[in-house]
Formats: sequence, structure tokens, C-alpha cells
Amino acid sequence: MKQILVLGGGAAGIVAAIAAAEENPDCSVLLLEKNPRIGKKLLATGNGRCNLDNETISPAYYFTSDQKTAAKILENMAHCDPLDWFRRHGLLFRSDESGRVYPYSNQASDVLNLLLDWLERCSVEVRCDCTVSGINRKGRGYQVIANGEPIYADAVICAMGGKAGPQFGTDGFALDFAQRCGCRIQQPYPCLVPLNCNKKQISGLSGIRVKGEVSLYDGQRLIHKENGEIQFTDYGISGIAVFQLSGFLNRLRQAEIHLDLFPQWSELELCRFLMERSRLFPNGSVSDFMTGLLHHRVGIAVWKACGLGKEERKLSTLSPEEWGKLAHGLKQWRFSELSPTDWKNAQTTGGGIALSQLESDSFQLRGCDGLYFVGETVDCTGFCGGYNLHWAFGSALMAAKHAVNYLRTVPKTAGKKKKR
Ligand SMILES: Cc1cc2nc3c(=O)[nH]c(=O)nc-3n(C[C@H](O)[C@H](O)[C@H](O)COP(=O)(O)OP(=O)(O)OC[C@H]3O[C@@H](n4cnc5c(N)ncnc54)[C@H](O)[C@@H]3O)c2cc1C
Repeated sequence: MKQILVLGGGAAGIVAAIAAAEENPDCSVLLLEKNPRIGKKLLATGNGRCNLDNETISPAYYFTSDQKTAAKILENMAHCDPLDWFRRHGLLFRSDESGRVYPYSNQASDVLNLLLDWLERCSVEVRCDCTVSGINRKGRGYQVIANGEPIYADAVICAMGGKAGPQFGTDGFALDFAQRCGCRIQQPYPCLVPLNCNKKQISGLSGIRVKGEVSLYDGQRLIHKENGEIQFTDYGISGIAVFQLSGFLNRLRQAEIHLDLFPQWSELELCRFLMERSRLFPNGSVSDFMTGLLHHRVGIAVWKACGLGKEERKLSTLSPEEWGKLAHGLKQWRFSELSPTDWKNAQTTGGGIALSQLESDSFQLRGCDGLYFVGETVDCTGFCGGYNLHWAFGSALMAAKHAVNYLRTVPKTAGKKKKR
């Protein structure tokens, strides 16, 4: 019997294994995972709710160094639609107002349990506590080394993730492994990650959340804008809006984030509003003024960043220019010296196997029949919102389908010959 080996029991690996076994019940499918259980990261996705896809899939929502190929692959992926696959396998889901798709039960554990059930139904053999360490070409197939032992396979689907979230089992081995297979790797970087910034700019703000619009600049050039909640931490800034911006950071030289706390108003409108409001506090200080407007510590921090003097200063002493300065500061509160925090905090891996190394309709490594790389190992990382799981599931379905078709072209004796 021909054998497909799937390396890594994460989102992509599990779906690839089920799809391969379903497409060809006559071949055996073996799934290897180094953790004691499969799907550990999947359970943590979407804060335990698993945002498994998005209604609007577009190359614009992916970070990659090869947009053109990514667009082609995503177009091909539409023929292996993960949502359609999940629907056919019994998952009911619903979308929120931004098109994020979640299981109807809002539970990641439901998605995993469903997949576990299908692995069993399709007779996929799952081997946990099994660490892959190498691969060699063996005749027309491959010999994979796992827990120090060789395992022969006619086709191999590699789904060992990236470097993000090492606490879930993904320590970057997949990228070394891909390099050993001859893949060219785009430098990996932590993506969808909180950002460090100049500590003075966030002093005393840790734990506070604000809503607003964040814009990432490279010098004077606007790179990207996001609306949402921003969380201050003791090292910098976090929150989904910041995560999205983090994906652009590695290409920039002079990155700076501007936070607009009043995106609904122009600077002039805000200035008028502030001056008008100051009449309510004829003898007040900035502290009194901020009550009912912004979190007290946020208001003071912007005031200080604007260089308007001590907190005790009476508002009545502010000149119109200084009100203008405050309005400007509230619209463009700046955070500099930005850098991603560590891999542990990152949701995904930017960079990875260059897309040009893979066939765009199958994820097969060019020049290596029957060897596939899918999921996060590949240089295409999505925004927050279900884009990464879409990529993981979609790439898995494409590779599984191709692997099964490929095996139909391999002579039956291939596996046996290798063993002799
Ligand atoms: C906290 C968190 C929340 C997230 N939430 C979302 C979300 O809601 N929506 C979304 O779209 N994306 C989300 N993501 C991103 C998404 O989870 C990943 O993009 C996706 O899981 C990638 O799937 P994958 O199968 O390629 O890799 P992984 O899911 O990382 O799976 C790789 C597997 O390979 C195994 N492995 C690694 N090395 C070896 C080895 N040597 N031998 C054997 N096995 C090995 C690992 O243990 C792991 O189980 C989130 C990520 C994190 C960390």
C-alpha cells in the first residue's frame, strides 16, 4: 500500500491527513506530531473561539515578499475552499460584522473534536510524541527520520509550522528542515505581535486600553492604518490594530505609529471642541479637563507629550496655539523606537519558504515530486481575522489533493523496492 506521511499535527497537518485519506482510501496516511496531542495551537486560536476563516479573502490581507504569486495561489485556493470543506464535514459556523468566521458554538475545541473524529473515521494513523528530525530522498519516495527511526513514504506533506508560539511546539525547526530540502527561505520575523516602543512614551499607562485609529509611518510615508483598541503594556503597545501594523514593520527604516484618539473629527474641529469645553473648567487644570473625556492617565500623557507644562497648570493660561498643539497631540500621539516583542507573543511567522519555490496549484516543492510544504512554513502570512487558518487549511487541501493524484502515477512497487 502506498503511504502518505504528514509531518506536524497542527491546523494544516490534520486537515491534509484527513483530506488525503478521504481522496484515496487505498493509501495509508500517517500523521506525526511531536507534542503529546495534536492541535494544541488550534485550541488557542481566536481566544479559544477559533476564527477559522474570513468572508473576504484577498491578497491585500496577506504579508509576503511575492504578492503576485500569493494572488495566484489564493485564486487557486478558491477551488479548495476550506469553509466548504468544513461545511461538508459537519461544522456549522457564523460570521461577525467584520466577516470573521467562527464555529457556531464559538468553541475551538469543537473544531478540533470534529477533526479528531474524521481522522478516526478515515483511519489516519496518528503518532504523537514523535519528533521529525530529517528527510532523505529514497528512490521515487522519501525516508523521513522520526524519533531516530526511518519511515518510508511515497509522498510527504510537511506542515510543521513556523517560529511563532514556540510554547505550542513550533520552534522554527520546519524552516531548517525546508532549507535542508533545498528551499530558499525569506528571513523569518515575528508577525501579528505586540510592539516594544520608547518606554518614556508609555510611562504609567500599562494596563489601559483606548480606542482609536493607529497609523504606521515610515518617515513621512503612511504605510497602513487600522481602527480598533490599543492596549498599553509595560513594554509597549498591543491589541489587534497594533498586531496588523506589526506585519509591515520589518521592511521599514524609520517606523513610527501615530495614534488618533478622535478619528471622527478633524484637527480643527477637535481644537474648537477643546476650547469650547475649557469653559466648563474656568479654574481647572488638565486633570479636571480630561475627566469625562479620556482616561485620566492617557490625557496627562498626551499633555506631557505636547510639552504643555506641568499638570497643575491652569487651563485659562493656554494660548489658542497651545490648544492647537493639544488637538494635534490627541490626533497624532506618536510612538517610536518600535520593534516586535518575542516569538512567544507572535501569532504567526512572517517570511518562510519563498513562494516561487512551490508549485502554485499544489504547494509541491519544485523539482521534488511528492514533497509538499504547507501552512505557516510558507512565506505568506495573513492579517488577524481568520486569514491564517484559511491559508493553513486551504494549502493543506490543495497539497492533499495533488499528493493523492501524484500517487496514482507512481508504480505500486515503488514503496516495496525501497525497503529491500
Ligand atoms: C494564540 C494564537 C491565536 C491565533 N488565532 C488565530 C485565529 O483565530 N485565526 C487565524 O486564522 N489564525 C490564528 N492564529 C494563527 C494560526 O494558528 C496559525 O497560522 C496556524 O495554526 C498555522 O497552522 P500550521 O498547521 O501551519 O502550523 P501549526 O498550527 O503551528 O502546527 C505545526 C505543528 O507541527 C508540529 N511540529 C513542529 N515541529 C515538529 C517536529 N520536528 N516533528 C513533529 N511535529 C512537529 C507542532 O508541534 C505543531 O503541532 C493564531 C496563532 C496563535 C499563536
